[in-house]
Amino acid sequence: MAGSHSPLDPAGREDRAGGKAQHCPPGSWLGVMGGGQLGRMFCMAAQAMGYRVCVLDPIPDGPAGSVADRQIVAAYDDPEALDALASLCAAVTTEFENVPAQSLERLALRCVVRPAASAVSAAQDRIAEKTFLRSCGVPVGPYAAVATAAEGAAVAPELFPAICKTARMGYDGKGQITVPAPRDLPQAWQALGGVPCVVEQRIDLRRELSVVLARGHDGAVAVFAVQENEHRHGILAVSISPARIPPETAERAREIAIQVAQGLQYTGVLCVELFERTDGALLVNEIAPRPHNSGHATIDACINSQFDQQVRALAGLPLGDPTAMRPSVMCNLLGDVWFGSDGAPRTPPFDAVLAIPGARLHLYGKTEARPGRKMGHVTVLGASVDEALARARLVAAILGLETPR
Ligand code: ATP
Ligand code: MG
Repeated sequence: MAGSHSPLDPAGREDRAGGKAQHCPPGSWLGVMGGGQLGRMFCMAAQAMGYRVCVLDPIPDGPAGSVADRQIVAAYDDPEALDALASLCAAVTTEFENVPAQSLERLALRCVVRPAASAVSAAQDRIAEKTFLRSCGVPVGPYAAVATAAEGAAVAPELFPAICKTARMGYDGKGQITVPAPRDLPQAWQALGGVPCVVEQRIDLRRELSVVLARGHDGAVAVFAVQENEHRHGILAVSISPARIPPETAERAREIAIQVAQGLQYTGVLCVELFERTDGALLVNEIAPRPHNSGHATIDACINSQFDQQVRALAGLPLGDPTAMRPSVMCNLLGDVWFGSDGAPRTPPFDAVLAIPGARLHLYGKTEARPGRKMGHVTVLGASVDEALARARLVAAILGLETPR
């Protein structure tokens, strides 16, 4: 019947433009490239709205595959698998930025893909990313691109102490080496494999901030409250929301994030990681073309979470309300928590954690705990940031985490 969808109609056909549905009603299939925890939380949000989800990931029954309605077990660049995903799903998104851009382009021949391959590839390579960020007029810290030994030798001495980062495939602080002085650079660059790198000035940080936003295909933007982040050993440990910053700083951070999203003509959920320098300047560290670890508290604290927004933006629905109902503190649970102070494996004392008012536990279903591996998180809500922080410190004490500052 014209004007109505069968719940089994995968692609909302009456709404098709150029052969592709711009609006995918609940009941349709949505696809996600990648099977980690971000894909898992996307699946859960999509399923809560009545969608069915297919995950494409080479590892069966991972965090996302084990909750998805279906998983295609294949490499991210397997053409038959991509075509099968695109035939089943009205729209496909990604949960990680290192999905091959060509795979997203192939999917886009048959179904809606959000964010677009061009936006994802802008975040895949730190050199391309910084070039793009500069071109759209947002501030980035001083850096030099180094792809050859000669370029390494030409790096300005003012950039040191510096951090050398591989241009591609880094995450959670991997692929990075601190470089105190120019003479240390050749060895650091070689240790990273002599691949293309960026050498960044090490910024004197007052704080780290992030802004998660959603942008619809119609250009509508919904921005979450600014998060204040604490990293330990290059890995996010704690996110506090709202950040304890003056309103002008929060406004500036949100403006920068919107500028990046507009510059990319972005559709989907985007995170902009920011450094606040000790002199107060805000610099963009990097961007993530997907929901972000620092936005996980939005599940418990906000009217709509970052994953709700990912579903809505992907499906072409109106964006939801990002308003936080409560201040929150999110503590990441790394695999280290599954080992006692004597190094022996243990089951973490979650019963004691869950006795703390306002605490909510999220585990990603990973069977093997390894040090540094993201296994889950605890979100603690409070009537104020101080109350949420006090409760989060209790969580940290029970689990042996470093105390949130
Ligand atoms: P993730 O995937 O967790 O975001 P990543 O591997 O992409 O991490 P970055 O975000 O580049 O790495 O860096 C991780 C952390 O290292 C930053 O959040 C910050 O704490 C520190 N860091 C990175 N670059 C700099 C810099 N130029 N100056 C000061 N600190 C830095
Ligand atoms: Mg980062």
